[in-house]
Amino acid sequence: MPKLDDYRLVATGKVRQVHQVDDDLLLFVASDRISAYDHVLVTEIPDKGRVLTAMSVFWFERFADLAPNHLVAWDDPRIPDEVRGRALLVRRLDMVQVECVARGYLTGSGMAEYRQGGSVCGVELPAGLVEASELVPPIFTPATKAQVGEHDENVSFAEVEARVGAGLAGRLRDATLAVYGAAREFARTRGVVLADTKFEFGLDASGALVLGDEVLTPDSSRYWPADTYEPGRVQPSFDKQYVRDWLTSPESGWDRASDTPPPPLPDDVVAATRARYVEAYERITGLSFADWPSPGR
Ligand code: ATP
Ligand code: MG
Repeated sequence: MPKLDDYRLVATGKVRQVHQVDDDLLLFVASDRISAYDHVLVTEIPDKGRVLTAMSVFWFERFADLAPNHLVAWDDPRIPDEVRGRALLVRRLDMVQVECVARGYLTGSGMAEYRQGGSVCGVELPAGLVEASELVPPIFTPATKAQVGEHDENVSFAEVEARVGAGLAGRLRDATLAVYGAAREFARTRGVVLADTKFEFGLDASGALVLGDEVLTPDSSRYWPADTYEPGRVQPSFDKQYVRDWLTSPESGWDRASDTPPPPLPDDVVAATRARYVEAYERITGLSFADWPSPGR
């Protein structure tokens, strides 16, 4: 049985780690860490890493014909038992350094840009849109990756063309909008609004465009409950709302505007948030989370 330490750590993000298995394979490990308001919290959400991994696998498999992806295996003897269920074996790709964002609803940095000049990443939008307005059709709003601790920067499609060439830029846009559009329609049938999402693509040895990273998880996407959707106000987050509500309540004693890190979450907020992640997975996939692998089984 391999141990995680047997595989050299090659990258570490806010909530995930990447290890090298061999020249062609990587092990993508999701932790139970959670971020909110640009802070990684000291309290973990049990099973979050497994839920997000399971969700990513569901989407990879569902859209394999629409966009090839890097998934090699999620249940495999090369995956150490200690990370079973929250680690994926993936093909190593030459990653394209563009964060490929699709937006079907206006919010976040898209809304902020729209307020300033009526467009997002150079895409002109109709006048009169409000917070959480639906965008028909969805738009491609690429970004470039920021240094650790900074926000990604929205860029125009022309900027992406200048960086990676017009041919590849067009393929990134088309693949991003195709997968997002299909996922949005599917989520809608399950009572969930997929407001936006971010993909990362890479090229394989043959030059084919391949979907990498994690896909369509609550960490890379905004999911909203459909039954309370109402344009004109900030929508509740399907997964993080209990965390946000508590952090901004008097009870937490935390000042969001200060530099101090948020306090630990109380047990009931942790339990409610864990339940939300499981609910999101089960609602969207129609599968039971109890069937997903975990260490020891
Ligand atoms: P964060 O997401 O926390 O802001 P990050 O993006 O640097 O930080 P991760 O997302 O955890 O951290 O790291 C994943 C890294 O692995 C990213 O740099 C991503 O581009 C890269 N990556 C994803 N899929 C592959 C792949 N198949 N082959 C090679 N690199 C990949
Ligand atoms: Mg990342």
